[in-house]
Amino acid sequence: MDASHVENDLVNVIFTEEQIQTRLRELAAEIEQDYAGKDLLIVGILRGAVMVMADLARSFTRHLEMDWMAVSSYGSGTKSSGVVRILKDLDTDISGRHVVIVDEIIDTGLTLSWLTANLASRSPASVEICTLLRKPEALTMPVDVRYIGWDIPNEFVVGYGLDYKERYRNLRDIGTLAPHVYS
Ligand code: IMP
Ligand code: MG
Repeated sequence: MDASHVENDLVNVIFTEEQIQTRLRELAAEIEQDYAGKDLLIVGILRGAVMVMADLARSFTRHLEMDWMAVSSYGSGTKSSGVVRILKDLDTDISGRHVVIVDEIIDTGLTLSWLTANLASRSPASVEICTLLRKPEALTMPVDVRYIGWDIPNEFVVGYGLDYKERYRNLRDIGTLAPHVYS
């Protein structure tokens, strides 16, 4: 679905499907250049990063491997619970591998700072982070992000994998959720 199907739930559309695709192609080109001649494993964080992974991966013009992790740091609302748990671990042994973690948004940074440390302890050749969005004002943990789509204001956004109570993930665009939906 696109923004017109959920018009009343959104304050505005911040990135259209087309803008997202353009930015992902740029990020893929950048990553491709940085990892030229090296094998590459990209790790998507379920479930939010599914769309980013699918489109980012297909923007590459080389081989790469894809694996997935599921972690939970949130309950079902709009605030972080502060606790990270692994719900699904990697199927891949990453020792000696070049790894890029792919996520859709960094909010407090809690999830990714924890996850980066966790993966780094498995002796990979390298670990970097690629995120489509980041909310710099919400950061409470230092996270070293190598590839970033856009910095956004500290507002709750949905679409393109980003959910509110498991809804809006299949929205093609990204928009700011109207407060009446969650208050
Ligand atoms: P962090 O640990 O606070 O950085 O939270 C990261 C996770 O929180 C993301 O991967 C999302 O699943 C979720 N999240 C944070 N902000 C938003 C938002 O604005 N919309 C939807 N999900 C969000
Ligand atoms: Mg996520």
